[in-house]
Amino acid sequence: MAEIALENVSKSFGAVEVIKDISLQVGQGEFVVFLGPSGSGKSTLLRMIAGLETIDRGKLLIGGKECQNLVPGKRNVAMVFQNYALYPHMTVRDNMAFGLRNVGMKEADIAARVEDAGRILEMDALLDRRPSQLSGGQRQRVAIGRAIVKEPAAFLFDEPLSNLDAALRVRTRVELAQLHQRIAATMIYVTHDQTEAMTLADRIVILNDCRIEQIGTPMEVYTYPASRFVAGFVGNPG
Ligand code: ADP
Ligand code: MG
Repeated sequence: MAEIALENVSKSFGAVEVIKDISLQVGQGEFVVFLGPSGSGKSTLLRMIAGLETIDRGKLLIGGKECQNLVPGKRNVAMVFQNYALYPHMTVRDNMAFGLRNVGMKEADIAARVEDAGRILEMDALLDRRPSQLSGGQRQRVAIGRAIVKEPAAFLFDEPLSNLDAALRVRTRVELAQLHQRIAATMIYVTHDQTEAMTLADRIVILNDCRIEQIGTPMEVYTYPASRFVAGFVGNPG
């Protein structure tokens, strides 16, 4: 069974239908990348899964359960934002704990999950710092930690590396791949960067103009591009 399934979903902004009848499935533990140029619908599609945009028509199934009408907090997915959205006045520990406190989890359970996330992310020693005392890469890890503690069915990333400098972007990308291996989590990752997609993805969903051009492994889309657009975009001049 797919961990996440979109069935014929559509979405309009005002009178303009941007997402038209899209279907796709993400398997348990799979790393799926939504790849496409700016304005191709990557963020809108991800935000529809997260519950940050409404789904006008069609179904969203998470772990087999229909979720298209549920508020974000009830969907069992965790979004990691590009700008980290950390609370500057809170420690790393409290930033990670915040979402769990909001849903009334017991403090002892919260502490255990935060300690676990600290270990997974190799941030044990930094839990009592504030965001201003961290590097960009460390802040990014806190944002991921906030998702890890929720133990979600899937992690959703929207261009998480685009604020980092080139060297750190590569290092964080490698760390993310290792994290995916270690916790065997289902991940959906939005980027316009072909290299990120080719190196991270089990499967790539290539979007153009809010339509799916092709879904396949990095090797498949590179070797057998389904359209001229895909061939141009994934960089095999053929
Ligand atoms: P991407 O993330 O691939 O850059 P988006 O999902 O942000 O693309 O945008 C897809 C399309 O939807 C674009 O044409 C964009 O202008 C439009 N769009 C996105 N958000 C809104 C909004 N809140 N109101 C109106 N149009 C929007
Ligand atoms: Mg976007």
